[in-house]
Amino acid sequence: MDAMEELLYTPASFVCDKCGFRLEIRTMLATTGEVGIKRGGEDCNEPCPNDSTLMRRVTWKEMALDSSDSAHELMLALIESVKLQSHYAMLLNMHDGGERKQFSCPAEWIERLKVCGQIPNPVPSCTPSAPPRSARKSNSATPA
Ligand SMILES: [Zn+2]
Repeated sequence: MDAMEELLYTPASFVCDKCGFRLEIRTMLATTGEVGIKRGGEDCNEPCPNDSTLMRRVTWKEMALDSSDSAHELMLALIESVKLQSHYAMLLNMHDGGERKQFSCPAEWIERLKVCGQIPNPVPSCTPSAPPRSARKSNSATPA
């Protein structure tokens, strides 16, 4: 992949212009659970599974705009999740006299997840040249 293409396109991401189907080609080592991006993954020989249209590469700009659109919705969902967690912790504490932690905002929740190690600190970068990252741990119970 030449340097200009690396600046224009996300690695191993493709889209169908006809129906909007997105394809992310990732590799996973079954033995270690490591997930990465195949170097030289700029070619997509697979047609869209919906309409057989040849897919094209996704640009960084498209990826950024999509991320921006979804980030707001994700934050709203996280706020609601934190409210539910706080309410649930309060109810459990009332029930059994426990001291489960209640979080007042997503920032507190995120800090707690960092302390518990469920969010690596610092968060690894997502640059195409980064080595494959280990697969995330499976979801576990709410940290107290
Ligand atoms: Zn399609």
